[in-house]
This record gives sequence, structure tokens and C-alpha cells, in this order.
Amino acid sequence: MFRFSVLPCRSVIVPAAVIAAGLLAAPALCQTAVPAASPATAQAAHELRVFDPSLIDKTVDPCENFYRFSCNGWFQHNPLPADQAAYGRFTELAELNRLHLKQILEETSAPVASRSANEQKIGDEYASCMDTATVNKLGLAPLKPELRRIARLKSRKKLPALLAHLHSIGVHAFFDMGSNQDFADSTAVISFYGAGGLGLPERDYYTRTDAKSVEQRQQYAAHVKKIFMLAGEPEAQAAKDAETVLAIETRLAKASLTITEQRDPQNLNHPTDVLSFQKELTHFSLSEYVSATHAPAVGKTNDMEPKFFAEFNALMADTPIAQIRTYLRWHLLHAYAGTSLPESFDQENWEFYAHTLNGAEKQQERWKRCTRRVDQELGEALGQVYVARYFPPAEKQRTLDMTLAIEQAMDKDIDGLDWMSAATKIKAKEKLRGVMNKIGYPEKWRDYSTLTIVRGDALGNQMRAHEFEFTRDLAKIGKPVDKGEWQMTPPTVNAYYDPQMNNVNFPAGYLQAPFFSGKEDDAANYGDMGSTIGHELTHGFDDEGRQFDKDGNLRDWWTKEDEQKFNERAECMVKQYDAIEAVPGVHLNGKLTLGENLADLGGLWLAWIAWLDKAHAAHVDMSATMDGYTPEQRFWIAYAQQWCTQTRPEQLRTQAQSNPHAPDEYRTNTVLQDLPEFAKSFSCKKTAAMVNPKPCRVW
Ligand SMILES: [Zn+2]
Repeated sequence: MFRFSVLPCRSVIVPAAVIAAGLLAAPALCQTAVPAASPATAQAAHELRVFDPSLIDKTVDPCENFYRFSCNGWFQHNPLPADQAAYGRFTELAELNRLHLKQILEETSAPVASRSANEQKIGDEYASCMDTATVNKLGLAPLKPELRRIARLKSRKKLPALLAHLHSIGVHAFFDMGSNQDFADSTAVISFYGAGGLGLPERDYYTRTDAKSVEQRQQYAAHVKKIFMLAGEPEAQAAKDAETVLAIETRLAKASLTITEQRDPQNLNHPTDVLSFQKELTHFSLSEYVSATHAPAVGKTNDMEPKFFAEFNALMADTPIAQIRTYLRWHLLHAYAGTSLPESFDQENWEFYAHTLNGAEKQQERWKRCTRRVDQELGEALGQVYVARYFPPAEKQRTLDMTLAIEQAMDKDIDGLDWMSAATKIKAKEKLRGVMNKIGYPEKWRDYSTLTIVRGDALGNQMRAHEFEFTRDLAKIGKPVDKGEWQMTPPTVNAYYDPQMNNVNFPAGYLQAPFFSGKEDDAANYGDMGSTIGHELTHGFDDEGRQFDKDGNLRDWWTKEDEQKFNERAECMVKQYDAIEAVPGVHLNGKLTLGENLADLGGLWLAWIAWLDKAHAAHVDMSATMDGYTPEQRFWIAYAQQWCTQTRPEQLRTQAQSNPHAPDEYRTNTVLQDLPEFAKSFSCKKTAAMVNPKPCRVW
């Protein structure tokens, strides 16, 4: 999303491949849009297919390495582009979508009088972003008023109002505040205060002691120093200021929960009211902060991480005001060091976040970053045009039918679970029946009429877009929940489950080949998009999602005995993934990736039984081959081919350490090893690598 959610990232189908150098700064774990690359010509030359026999490598035994068997052909034809840290089928489709968006944006950026209000906004924002001559000529000038505001901060008493302003323009200093559904009552929207204020992707970057992590912190300090120098500071001062930034951020990081701890919603649920919260914050006027944000006056709030806010308070008590100014100046420059500032900033920002941390060798072309930017700032204005051109109603209907079939399969699956009691089964089915299916795009489009986009004012546009989003987000406090709202834009190549809304969301940009195609049969579509639908649905019942009831309230609906049985089964998967060494010396984190692994395995299983039911009802001949493969085999190959991905070692390391999703190779092979039905389709021997003799299974 454009504005960071105060909640940690969860329940999406794919992680961000890389932090896009620019518009949105780290931490980017929750950024779901995947930056795209690869030459446009490659797209035109090869039609994207859900089941693609030309990608199969017949020299590999499918029972030994199914990922290689299914994907080697794709690897051969898709060398990792220099501007990417990882490149896979998601990026392949994102690239195609981006070309479509580019066409829309080039059309709407022609300054003709006949443009609609939304066309003027998306077109002029794109043109402003592409206009590097003007951006370079203006230099830091558009940011000067904000730098002056910070320079004028002479007393900590004035900080709350300044911080509220900085938060409103997208500067993530100290903490994050936003609206969210109350964990205890999903019908109420209240304010959430979350840990934040870091420039590195997440807290463990500040605490790990291995040589590589120590080196990354030195590289980060060098990056902060360089940005300060670009903003005009003498070298010695910039070096000192970078140390100050690192010291403050390290204190904030150490008091923050780890990303694994953040996955348990109970750890983030500390309801209080503004007055009581204020009593804890003896050195920061929360009431002045709240009043400066213009948030509606609702007393109840959530102090998501009390330990973090205690440290923030201590920091307010003992940090000299000059150091606070330095820290704020860094976060302001950091927030805008992309396409809104001269290329020297843009380049340095890319250098650290995309190259050093994730291994990309070349910066993405500007038009791609500008397209991404318009999608983030005006996603539903751009998305409305996109949907009209690229998502016909028949495809929406077919996806909806598939979703309903998979929900039915889950209902049947719950009946058959031998470890779950009848009492819990009733509740689980209630929750399943309560899931709302959102397909393609919002029923009601967002109204951007209060957002002003001025041609030639890239930085001002970015700032106003942040203010628009901040205001829109806070205005929800105290109002009824809008269940039709989307957290992803229509052209996004991704999907998510929202446990508080109890809904699944599949953007139109994802319901395209190579993941879904109206031209291909059910075996291919269920193996691929069907498994994703099952994945999102299973998130409602994973280690995190299962803690929410059918109405989205954080409330235990399990019997103690069933909970224990669930945890025993989940533990099997924790151990299974803990044992995987992704890069030398770095193992996957079984607990961190548990929710995603449960969703991958459960989702594929649900798609399988839903498809079998449908195939039997339609009397599909299960022995008939197409391109040399039976329907069952094509189902599994289509599943595997969605995960073909090339990843740089730097990115693989980052992902293994901090991403809740396992790398794609394991999302294929490890998942399939747990399904004897897969082994049967390929007649694998019991001793084959693709057969887990003691398979894990929850759903
Ligand atoms: Zn997921």
C-alpha cells in the first residue's frame, strides 16, 4: 500500500522481491507490488501460459527435483535482468501489466482539455515524475520549507506537532500511527500506534552480530552520511550525523518486537485509551500529537508495542534536541530520496537499498518507477482504466466460481479432519461461510477529488498524495468499517487474506496468464490460481488467522484439546522448514514462515480436491494426455511453474532472514513432498527425494 500499514505484513501470496529504490523507502517487507523488469520484446515473443510444456526439462526426474523439472526451461529463457534482485513469473506478469499501465499513462499525460479529472491526475503525475530535467533543476528547493521546519525545532515541547506533520507527509520517524479495526471488536475503527522509525528493513538488522550484518550496518551508516552530504553537509558533520541516526535507530530497534513475534496478534494487542497512554509517555505530549493530526476524537486506542513506546519515552527524555533534529532530517530526506529529488539522491538510494542489500546490478528504468509511483499514489484511478481494458466480466465470473468450489472443498475437508472435535468444526465452518470473496477491483472506486496534482511539481505531488492518504486513513476512526475497501490496487500481481475483515482479495492484475487464463482448462487453472485461492483461504485458519473468529474478532474459538492438536501438527512444519539451509550458514525460520507454509500446503490440497470433484462431475478422462501429460500431472506442473524464480544470493539471504514466505524452490518441492497424491501422479518410489516418508499435514 501507499502508506505503511501499522500492522506487520501478513497473508499475502508473494513477498516484495526487492525494495524499490525510490518512492517508498525501507522497511519494505510489507510492500507487495513487485518491481518489474525484463525487456518488453521477450514478452511479445512468448505467450504466457498457465501450463507451459515448453518450460519442462525432461532430463530431470520429476520425482527427484520437481522444481527443476518444471522450471528449467523457464530459467534458460529468462536470465536474471541486471535491474532485479529476483525475477520470476510474478515479475514476468508485473512487467506485462506495467507495459499496459505505461500505455494508459502515456495516453493520459497528453495535456488535452478532454481529459477527465482522474485522467488529468494520473497523466500529470506520470509526466511530472518523468520530467527529470525539472526535478534536477529544482534540486532540494521543494523540500526546503520542510527542512526549515525541522531546523526551527528548538524544544522537545514542539516535537509532537512537528512529528504529526511529518507523519502526514509520509516521513516514518520514531513510530507509525494509523487507523485499524479494534482487535476485540472488528466493527470499530480506532487508532493504532506501532513501532517504527528505522531506515534498515527491520529490527534484526540492528542486532545481528555476524560479520555480514556488521558490514551492512557500516554500509548503512555510509549511505546516511552520503545523503546528508548530498543535502549540503560537510563530510565530517555528515559522518557524525550518520552515527547519531544509527544510535537512535538502534535504540528503537532493540525495543521493537522481532518480525516473528509480530506474527502473533496477541503480542500487538494492548488496548488502552489516549489518557492512560499519555500517562506512560511522560516526555511526549500525545494529546498535542493527536490534535495536530486532526484525527477524530475517539478515546480508545492500541499501544501495539508498550516496550517500544517506553523506550521512545526514554529517548525523548535524554536525547539532545540537536540529535532529534538530525534524526528527523535524515528521515525526511530518506522518504523523498527517489523520483522526487535530483538523480544524485535517487542513484544513492538505489545503490544502498537495491544494490547493496539485495544485489540488483542496474537501476530500473525511470518509466517503470514512475508507473509504480502512480499506482501507489492514485492506484484506483489508474486501476479503473486498467480493469476496463484488461479484465472482462467473464473472467471475473470464472474466478468467482473457482473460489466458491474451493470454499466448498474446504467445508468437506473440515468434515473429514480426524483430529478436530465436532465443536470446533462447527465454528470453523461458520468462519468459512463468513468469508467474503472480493475479485478483481472495488465495487466503489476511491474519490480523489481532494487531491491536487500539479504538472511539473513531482515532490509537491508526492507530498500531497501522502497527506491525502493520511487524512483518508485517519478519517476512518470512529466510523463504520468499510468492508468494500481494498488494500491492494487492481493492477497488482498479488493477493491477500484479511483476518479482521474475514475476506479474500484477488486483484485483476493477478488474474491473468501465467496464473489464470480463460483459454486454458481447469487442471491448469486449479493447479495455479486455485492453489492461490486455497492459500488465501487457509490463512484464515493458519497459526495467526485461526485466532480470529468469523466476525474478525481476536477471540479464541478453539477447544484446548484441538488447539494442542493443531500446534502439534504445525510443529511438524516448523521443524521441516527450520532444517532447510537457504544460503550457506542461513537456515529458514520455521516459525516465521509457518503461516505461509501452512497456507501453501493447505491451499494446494484444497485446490486438488476441488478440482478432482469438478473433473469427476464433468467426466474428464484422467488417462488422456495433452502435450504428453495427464490432467493430474498438468495440475501439479501448473502449480510448480508459478514459482519459477531466479534470485540473487544477497536477496535470498535477505528473504531467508526476514521474509515470512519461504523461497520459491521450497514453496514448490517442500510442499509437494508432503502430498502423497503428487507422488502417485508421477509414480514416484517411496525412496525418491520428492517423497517425505513422514509427511506433515494440518488441513
Ligand atoms: Zn500468504
